[in-house]
Amino acid sequence: MDFILYAVPFFFVLIAAELLADRWRGVTNYRLADAINSISTGVLSTTTGLLTKGVGLLTYAFALQHLALFELSADSVWVWVLAFVLYDFCYYWLHRMGHERNILWAAHSVHHQSEEYNLSTALRQTSTGFVLSWIFYLPMAVVGVPLLVFVSVAALNLLYQFWVHTRHIPKLGWFEWFFVTPSNHRAHHAQNALYMDRNYGGVFIIWDRLFGSFQEEDDNEPVIFGVTTPLESWNPVWANLQFYAQLWADARRTQSTWDKLRIWFMRTGWRPADVAAKYPMNKPDLTRFRKFEVPLDRRQQIYVLLQFCVYIALGSYLMNLEPNLPASALVLGWGAVAFGLFVLGVALENRPWALKLELLRLVSNVPLVWLAPMVGLWPASAVGWVGLLSYSLLSGIGLYCCRNRFTRLAS
Ligand SMILES: [Zn+2]
Ligand SMILES: [Zn+2]
Repeated sequence: MDFILYAVPFFFVLIAAELLADRWRGVTNYRLADAINSISTGVLSTTTGLLTKGVGLLTYAFALQHLALFELSADSVWVWVLAFVLYDFCYYWLHRMGHERNILWAAHSVHHQSEEYNLSTALRQTSTGFVLSWIFYLPMAVVGVPLLVFVSVAALNLLYQFWVHTRHIPKLGWFEWFFVTPSNHRAHHAQNALYMDRNYGGVFIIWDRLFGSFQEEDDNEPVIFGVTTPLESWNPVWANLQFYAQLWADARRTQSTWDKLRIWFMRTGWRPADVAAKYPMNKPDLTRFRKFEVPLDRRQQIYVLLQFCVYIALGSYLMNLEPNLPASALVLGWGAVAFGLFVLGVALENRPWALKLELLRLVSNVPLVWLAPMVGLWPASAVGWVGLLSYSLLSGIGLYCCRNRFTRLAS
């Protein structure tokens, strides 16, 4: 059962509650561009997941059919309990390797790039994790956990992890010993040396205590959130490519063929000696840490926020109807979401070409609405064109309201 779809409204209700708590306590844990960037990576990840989840499901089903040692029944509550615990054990190793190996960190780093820590950070998810993550769950198929149970406990595990992404909840006493909590997960999101590569559990923190990767949040060492190679971008597409691009650049630059191959599988941060000497990368001095920020006019912020809501709606629409949509419709929907979120990222970064790209995005809705009924994304009707016309008109008015800012940037 996919519980994530049903949880989406609760995510937004709880984010609203956290924003109120921020206001109540007079603290600022949210910045608009950061939250939009985090949720954008989440929308991109779930939309990409509609096209790629077959990788995890097919490999699991294949392994279950050919490698299962036992035949476990989905009717037994104990199978569910075992599967829930076993899933978290597998997750621990995937997550740990996700931090310790270059190729896996390239996928997982997306979750850590935010320099804020709030419930929107929980939605920051990778779009490329599907390539390798399935390998870590094969032991569950070998044990014989049924596919339905596997998919359900995977969703429950992910849902559990949502609530721990907040700065409002302090340490929770005895609960800290057994479970992942806001406090020990805050430490996991830190870039301070003390907390680096610690607290990998998804639901249970006992794995970290068992395998020596636990670190308690220390009041004397305030957490600085983010990664040591800062993303410095509000673009969700670039967020997914940043570390792959760095590895690719290093692999191309090195003279050693062996290094070109092994860089992908070496410990995170490892670089070929000749490349590291010629193109040194220094770790930032955290005493002078400054969060990434791009000044943006208020009207422009509101414009991007409203346009962003359209993509949340489109992403939810795709998730909702996914079982009934043909692959061609999912590809078109994915393309529209990825391009749209890319353009909004450019607008948040205040790039000189933001206006031209935004106009291109609005124009690109014409072929989108034309193609949608052909590929089965939605049925052919006049409503699509009327909707597009109204949307374009409103967007035009919005752009007109932002004109001074955009003109200044474009010049
Ligand atoms: Zn992590
Ligand atoms: Zn997290």
